[in-house]
Amino acid sequence: MHTGNQQTRSESWQMQLANCVTRPEALLEILGLAPTLLPAALDASKTFAMRIPRSFIARMEYGNPNDPLLRQVLPVGQELTDVAGFGLDPLGEKDKNPTEGIIHKYRGRLLLITSGACAVNCRFCFRRHFPYQDNQLSGQHLQRALDYIKSDSSIREVILSGGDPLAASDRRLQQLTSDLAGISHVKTLRIHSRLPVVLPDRVSDDMLHWLRSTRLKTVVVLHCNHANEIDDSVKAAINRLKMAGATLLNQAVLLKGINDSVDAQVTLSEKLFDAGVLPYYLHVLDKVQGAAHFDISEESAQILIRGMMEECAGYLVPKLVRDIPGKASKTIIPVS
Ligand code: SF4
Repeated sequence: MHTGNQQTRSESWQMQLANCVTRPEALLEILGLAPTLLPAALDASKTFAMRIPRSFIARMEYGNPNDPLLRQVLPVGQELTDVAGFGLDPLGEKDKNPTEGIIHKYRGRLLLITSGACAVNCRFCFRRHFPYQDNQLSGQHLQRALDYIKSDSSIREVILSGGDPLAASDRRLQQLTSDLAGISHVKTLRIHSRLPVVLPDRVSDDMLHWLRSTRLKTVVVLHCNHANEIDDSVKAAINRLKMAGATLLNQAVLLKGINDSVDAQVTLSEKLFDAGVLPYYLHVLDKVQGAAHFDISEESAQILIRGMMEECAGYLVPKLVRDIPGKASKTIIPVS
């Protein structure tokens, strides 16, 4: 596959993060795409900036405006259309924000917003309007968050979320992991991240060190939506995480025109399993303003899962779920 993208694999992950492509004109040039896409991309990126690691662009097909990886990250004009039922806070998270940096929706576990930054800005992101600036986890805020976790002995699992928690430095993550391991009722550390997929060099020796040395059970939930996202460098990163003792799961979002066919989903599941990752959740789209053009109906999603059940083993069929504000857990959409 020719992409015209010069990826320097010897760069550190921090350098690669700093060198993400953020200008739509640069992206179109790298991929040899028509300049007619530019005005809409510039407009839409004013509301939600464009940001893509070069290693992710290298997996896109040169000259193809419909590439399934490109469509997840290229700003388009449809994002600027207001659609009824699509809002700024689709999961009602602002009401579940007891102290800065914590989202406590479900019993026994909570989210720690570890970093507001991401390596990639996914156009369908349900937190594209989240007030990260009010949720910086540093100094007093971090201490308050840790005190909150200490004070509630029902919390067994802490989920590092974001943004992307792995956008934070290993030094910070090592300290945070050690702080959490010091709270005896916390048993499991779960990390939700897209970084091992979009920028696999993030799975560095330093990261493996803190992951390996904690007493906490570790679960890494990857976020991979299409089989083309998994290349040899991603497989190697997954392997390193497994060797460090992490349980590997994947969650995906069902996206119109990107992965909404039985074939796309079966290929994704098979490729994940081959790499050592179990498909866990397939989310129907959260109704966030700017992402309505990715939405498909619940009925179509159910038909798709039924199709998957006919094509592959049960453990390769992810649970179809929806987040409904106020519910005690994710809502599993029944498929008979
Ligand atoms: S939080 Fe996840 S889905 Fe949202 S932009 Fe960041 S990586 Fe993408």
